[in-house]
Amino acid sequence: MPSHDVIVIGAGLVGSAIAMRLAQEGLRVALVEKNAPGREASWAGAGMLSPAPDSPASIPLVPFGRASLSLYPQFIAEIEDISGRRAGYRTEGAIELLFSADAERALSTLIALHHALGLPTEPLPIDEAIKVEPALTHRAQAAAYFPYEACVDNRALTEALLAAASICRVELFPATHVRQIVIKHGRCTGVRTENRSLFEARDVVVATGAFSSLLEGIVPRLATRPIRGQMAALRSQQPIGHVIRCEQGYIVPRDSAGPQRLVTGSTLEDAGFNKHVTARGIEKILSTAQELIPKLANAEITELWCGLRPDTPDHLPLLGPAGVDGLTIATGHYRNGILLTPITAKLLREWIVEKRVSMDWEIFNPLRFAGAGSAGTTAPEFLSDNPAGSEVAHK
Ligand SMILES: Cc1cc2nc3c(=O)[nH]c(=O)nc-3n(C[C@H](O)[C@H](O)[C@H](O)COP(=O)(O)OP(=O)(O)OC[C@H]3O[C@@H](n4cnc5c(N)ncnc54)[C@H](O)[C@@H]3O)c2cc1C
Repeated sequence: MPSHDVIVIGAGLVGSAIAMRLAQEGLRVALVEKNAPGREASWAGAGMLSPAPDSPASIPLVPFGRASLSLYPQFIAEIEDISGRRAGYRTEGAIELLFSADAERALSTLIALHHALGLPTEPLPIDEAIKVEPALTHRAQAAAYFPYEACVDNRALTEALLAAASICRVELFPATHVRQIVIKHGRCTGVRTENRSLFEARDVVVATGAFSSLLEGIVPRLATRPIRGQMAALRSQQPIGHVIRCEQGYIVPRDSAGPQRLVTGSTLEDAGFNKHVTARGIEKILSTAQELIPKLANAEITELWCGLRPDTPDHLPLLGPAGVDGLTIATGHYRNGILLTPITAKLLREWIVEKRVSMDWEIFNPLRFAGAGSAGTTAPEFLSDNPAGSEVAHK
């Protein structure tokens, strides 16, 4: 008899949350991680919980993002309660500044689109914006307020979630690199690791983020690619309450005693698995931060880092059964995986325990690119979401 009911591969936010939900059902869950748990995209991200679309391609994701955002308060309360740790969840909302000459027109278009998508975004007169956030630049032409948005300290959340999962009896296997999914007689029976040991289970869940295309044994290979995002943290004497952003980038406040930690980002770069921060990337991020809050020119830089977003050809996640009994995919969350963690874990629990899901997830079918390359040898084409070629990201 296999030692576990379910093997979850990848201890980022997505895999850890799925593992915890399954263990809460009384299943024996192994969470297998190639390095240290929670040190990839879930550690690198900014932690904005924004269901607003960041490009036309992400419009189909909005209902999913809204559903996940609505689960967040309960998700955080539960994890903080089980783990006894804080996750730095803040609900002040976000302010977006517009700088272009036709900012008023762009604002009306944005508000109309958001209302059609069920997002209660509001126009915010510039003097009001400066009243609520006195450190803001006076150079913006228009502003929008996103009262329903939140943010979370994703590093603190990941730590708390791993602790909660362990309390719920998830068995964690760090430094265990899965090389291959094992399929026997048309059924997934487990995984084989780099050192050739075999883990067997009735169900396997793939939550390997930007590294998913590297897994062997899934036909066709999972259609993911890494998109690098660089980040900088500042220690600021200008405390802010809201997430502040514009088309080129963002500033996210963290809870901290004394001078506030501000997390600023980011770039969108197709650099393979390279995780260098670059002079150009950091220069762009810091100049955007100063454009939003000029006094940040004197803020101390406390940390520079980058992470790999798990992108897919249409920028939507890969979620659901993989065409082989016992194998389920939960990856490709690209720029929204922190936001989408609670709904992903809920649907994966439903699928594995009850073999039904409470939300239609067909648009995320992990096999939807299967025709693009037979046996996964030809990569499907990836949509560009960066028509100006600017390499900057406001999420
Ligand atoms: C700069 C940046 C900013 C971002 N900002 C936001 C934001 O504001 N809001 C938001 O919602 N999202 C944001 N994101 C996206 C978000 O971080 C990701 O979508 C999310 O963290 C993906 O979670 P994950 O658990 O799937 O992947 P990861 O956190 O990358 O976890 C995958 C895990 O799988 C492990 N793994 C991989 N292959 C194997 C293997 N073969 N065997 C064993 N283990 C394996 C990895 O080591 C890793 O620990 C941002 C990302 C970046 C990089």
